[in-house]
Amino acid sequence: DPFVYDVQESPWPANEPAPYSFLVHALATLSGTRSRTIILNTLTNTLRTLLNWHRPSLLPSLYLLSNCLSPPYSPVELGIGSSVISKAIQHISGLTSSALRRLYNSFGDPGDVAFEAKSNVRTLVPHPPLMIVAVHDYLLKIANSKGQGAAKQKQAIVEKLLVAAKGEESRYLVRTLSLNLRVGAVRTSILTALARALVLTSQTSLGGPDRDHSLYHATSQSISSVQREKLHEKFIQAEALVKKVFVQHPNYEHIIAGLFKGGLDSLDLHVPLTVGIPLHPTLGSPTRSLYEIYERLGDLPFAAEFKYDGQRAQIHGVRGVNSGNPSVHIFSRHLEDMTTKYPDIVHLVKCIFQQQPQLQSFIIDSEIVAIDPSDGGLKSFQELSNRARKGVEMSDIKVSVCVYAFDLMYIDGEVLLAQPFRERRSLLRSHFPPFLPSDKGARLDHVESCESDAGKDAIEEFWQKAIESRSEGLMIKLLSSDTIQEDGMRKGNGKRKPLSATYEPDKRTSAWLKLKKDYVVGLGDTLDMVPIGAWHGNGRKAGWWSPVLLAVRDPRNDCLVAVCKCISGFSDSFYKEMVAYYSEGSDNCSRQPLWETDTGGFRPDVYFRPHKVWEIRGADITLSPVSLAALGLVSSSRGLSLRFPRFIKTRDDKLPEQASTTDFLAQIWKDQQGQSKATAGDADDG
Ligand code: ATP
Repeated sequence: DPFVYDVQESPWPANEPAPYSFLVHALATLSGTRSRTIILNTLTNTLRTLLNWHRPSLLPSLYLLSNCLSPPYSPVELGIGSSVISKAIQHISGLTSSALRRLYNSFGDPGDVAFEAKSNVRTLVPHPPLMIVAVHDYLLKIANSKGQGAAKQKQAIVEKLLVAAKGEESRYLVRTLSLNLRVGAVRTSILTALARALVLTSQTSLGGPDRDHSLYHATSQSISSVQREKLHEKFIQAEALVKKVFVQHPNYEHIIAGLFKGGLDSLDLHVPLTVGIPLHPTLGSPTRSLYEIYERLGDLPFAAEFKYDGQRAQIHGVRGVNSGNPSVHIFSRHLEDMTTKYPDIVHLVKCIFQQQPQLQSFIIDSEIVAIDPSDGGLKSFQELSNRARKGVEMSDIKVSVCVYAFDLMYIDGEVLLAQPFRERRSLLRSHFPPFLPSDKGARLDHVESCESDAGKDAIEEFWQKAIESRSEGLMIKLLSSDTIQEDGMRKGNGKRKPLSATYEPDKRTSAWLKLKKDYVVGLGDTLDMVPIGAWHGNGRKAGWWSPVLLAVRDPRNDCLVAVCKCISGFSDSFYKEMVAYYSEGSDNCSRQPLWETDTGGFRPDVYFRPHKVWEIRGADITLSPVSLAALGLVSSSRGLSLRFPRFIKTRDDKLPEQASTTDFLAQIWKDQQGQSKATAGDADDG
């Protein structure tokens, strides 16, 4: 039963501080189970009890449960090594070094060692119980002991805590001190439980509007089935709200303060997205080919962007009061503050504020990439990682960087998360034009991108450009929210699911698809193919032949058989040469199929005399309803086609009789099938 929440009375003298043993009881239950229901119920009951009976213990408990003392962007580190802990255990238990070593050998975990070591200690005068708030304060004291004598001070505090700890308390205390709590309560469970505990707490007592009283007193015995349903609904709403607030503003202290100001309902008003506090970033979902991207997005409009190989950076900037010194923060993907790693970017932001007197504040998402300062050429991630991690001085900088900005989450007091990507992108571009200093200073630039409106050919070319560049591949981002059929089609009667183009903190969204070069299993070998026909080009390619129809040799029927259309890899000068060579009406180019070729389901505008052999590279071989190549070799109803063919060069040393054969195609297809079986299930989730 997931709805068992039992808090009738205070387990300790009412309104007194909550004892540490109460939290340890919960930690022991959590570490003894893998059941999500038990984990959630335990956490909910614990937090609900604290909300009811001693609110100042709530925040320290959230930190102790999540095995950290602060948000990731302003770390509070205990700074104690295992030797401090062992020395303290030895000191308070009176064990010899060898006896302690034996305990370590048999238990391994320092918490278990502390528990065993302490179980032999008899104290004559009982110690007053440890309180949650006090334990947390001691931990902060340990973290704040710095400078000379800090190690001694830290050890003295650890000993003090261990002397006072009773039974299981020593185990969890030491696990906390060694930063290895070993409980399965991850952040999501803690947030879910906090939300549930809040639903079960009087909102008036939190300063919010009154809600359904009967729920605050509900227990597993008294709750009715109607109440249970109501509770379920309220839980879902509250969980969504608490998680949404947390991923935009990951700070328990601010969240608790916000809750005590106005209760659950107004939590998002009291704890908004804030410049200077990093939000969890949106993440992308992996895909294996452009084909898969079209399958997943149907014909919804998207922007394809270079996926740069650098370091993700969330840049926060606020103009100083009275136009004083702007405050700048740069956060990593994992929300660590890395401002002091990039003084050149801090300088860049200050220049931007200077250039734009209207600009007040912003949060940008970007990738920091090492570049060659002379021409802006991209450098590898390894170059970037040569930079020191913190405390970098301007004069130390040897690796120049460019900030490739790709999203804007906040500007001048306006939160943009709920805006579609199209809007955010256009605001980003209009407010932050490229900034290219003349010296080696950090640059700001927009990511290279191409919109799906430009057509599939253009996207395919852009992908090829990404492959040839120093980028990791592409990020494909939905421009406007829409719904899509589950089978990927935009129209039709199938079941539909929404796809949102909003900025989704902490989500691996399907509206951001990443296509890495390494994911795309290209054909190891190239094919020698014969151009046998073409269509009239459009747009930029008007007047040229594009696409061109390519064929391989069918040795059984002694003819050429069409395989696929090719649109990429040709230079403009090559297009012009092609038009001259295959000029319409000449001996080489006819409207009628005059030469011995089988074009299967392809109907080109013109047919080429099969003279030339081109070297072609492709992504993979697929079954095709249009191509008749290799028909009967792997399927009785379908031929084989080459996906994403790309022209490499003309093979003047070969004749069409020496082109690749349908058997070769069939062999590659069979090898591919074997490979995909062997690698099935190794899909990367990020
Ligand atoms: P990966 O290991 O592929 O970098 P990841 O799990 O770190 O993946 P994903 O969201 O899956 O993160 O991939 C997006 C990452 O790619 C971002 O975190 C960012 O660092 C990087 N990146 C580079 N260029 C872009 C871009 N144009 N848009 C979004 N992210 C980009």
